Amino acid sequence: MDQICLHNLFGPEWVVLREITGMEEQAIASTSTLDAIGLLDALVMSDYEGALQQGEVARLTSWDREQLLAAVYRRTYGANIESTVTCLQCGEKFDMDFGLDVLLEFLNPKPCEVLGVSLLDEGIFQLGEDVTFRLPTGQDECAVIGLGQEEAKAVLLERCVQDGLESATLSQYSDAIQSAMEALSPLVDTELNASCPECGHGQQVHFDLQYYLLSAIQGERTHLMEEIHALASSYGWSLSEILNLPRSQRRALAGMVDADDGGGL
Ligand SMILES: [Zn+2]
Repeated sequence: MDQICLHNLFGPEWVVLREITGMEEQAIASTSTLDAIGLLDALVMSDYEGALQQGEVARLTSWDREQLLAAVYRRTYGANIESTVTCLQCGEKFDMDFGLDVLLEFLNPKPCEVLGVSLLDEGIFQLGEDVTFRLPTGQDECAVIGLGQEEAKAVLLERCVQDGLESATLSQYSDAIQSAMEALSPLVDTELNASCPECGHGQQVHFDLQYYLLSAIQGERTHLMEEIHALASSYGWSLSEILNLPRSQRRALAGMVDADDGGGL
């Protein structure tokens, strides 16, 4: 299991996550935030007093959720992100890899002083003289799914800006509030600089951790079926017994069965 300490607004909060199993791997149906929250909630171990409990992931801010997705990625695939990029100039493919931890360090939330906001009690921020707001959580993000960009922004502000603000003042500050929210709780969703080793052309490559992790798991669906088939055929275990094995154990055993059969998996 992984113990992750979120340094959120109220001090440290512990989260204990277990290793992913085939149950979660096959439950992922898309790369949406809903699927990300569902995956993390399934992995939360609730038997630790004082730690985050199952069902509570949706109350975390985006930055805290990204820390948990990063922990799942590290445990499942290691600390490096590897990607193949096609050069926009010469069309050659080249490999790009970088450390996830270095990226997280780079994207770290900006301190309040830099953003011109102050933190009041209970996770409420103050901007200027009149505006107080809280950071959006997964629940807020889920509430605006399916809305257009402008409508989603308006609903998010309505949910997160504290009551009693005149609508004229709200619209005056809306861009500043949204920028402050994004800087205080960023997503690991960014452009990275890459340079083609063939022709030297520099270009930007988009990286989104939630999309990358959930796509990687979804992309292994066929391999998961092959492992289930190999273990069921060899040991006679039921589907649910195999799906409940920790991923590393399932893969190791399937690899052994495969080696006995002469390879192929
Ligand atoms: Zn090139």
